[in-house]
Amino acid sequence: MPDQDAEFITRHIQKHPVNLKFETELAEIINDGNGNACGVITKSGEKISCDFVGLTAGVTPNIDLVKNSILKTAKGIIVNQYLETSVSDVYAIGDCAEISEPPAGRKAIEQVWYIGRMMGETVADTICGIRKAYNPGPWFNSAKFFDVEYQTYGNVPAALNENMDEFFWQHPSIEKCLHIVWKKIHLNLQE
Ligand SMILES: Cc1cc2nc3c(=O)[nH]c(=O)nc-3n(C[C@H](O)[C@H](O)[C@H](O)COP(=O)(O)OP(=O)(O)OC[C@H]3O[C@@H](n4cnc5c(N)ncnc54)[C@H](O)[C@@H]3O)c2cc1C
Repeated sequence: MPDQDAEFITRHIQKHPVNLKFETELAEIINDGNGNACGVITKSGEKISCDFVGLTAGVTPNIDLVKNSILKTAKGIIVNQYLETSVSDVYAIGDCAEISEPPAGRKAIEQVWYIGRMMGETVADTICGIRKAYNPGPWFNSAKFFDVEYQTYGNVPAALNENMDEFFWQHPSIEKCLHIVWKKIHLNLQE
């Protein structure tokens, strides 16, 4: 996230209250002696007691179901632009699908639910007789942080490069903000 957005979301999360720790890494999970977690120790040596430990380390497609089948797989199940797998009449959509040649500016695997829905609509058209290529259009997504619905439209880098400019507005009293980032266009009006 860009700094302004990250600070906005951080303040909101901390209000709830969650003790967010930055630049902190897990060193050890403490065993209560019965095989259950009862705390963690961070790399700076801090001990935090807890009742359970949840780890979130990114997402990977779960393709166990088809791993030893005739379907072509890599990290996910390989599909073409029609979301067709290597076996006719078998499609893959959503988190498990890996597009062999993704549309320009898009990743081969995009694990967010809007993608799954758009892929579902595309395949529904195809199996109903209108063969359709997957065309997600501009990137967009939303994520919920307690009461804030954080929405993104287009690709916004965490740090702007020199060809970009931005506008950031935050409501003075309620938790709302708007952040617009654009590419600067240099017009040569003398030609
Ligand atoms: C913590 C978390 C937060 C997220 N937040 C957001 C967010 O804010 N915004 C957003 O857009 N996306 C978010 N996502 C991603 C979003 O949830 C996924 O992209 C979406 O659910 C993918 O849908 P899917 O149908 O492809 O896969 P899934 O929803 O994972 O469905 C796959 C189903 O297949 C079942 N299954 C697997 N193997 C087998 C088998 N062998 N036999 C039978 N069934 C099987 C699974 O049990 C599961 O029910 C989040 C994901 C997580 C984990």
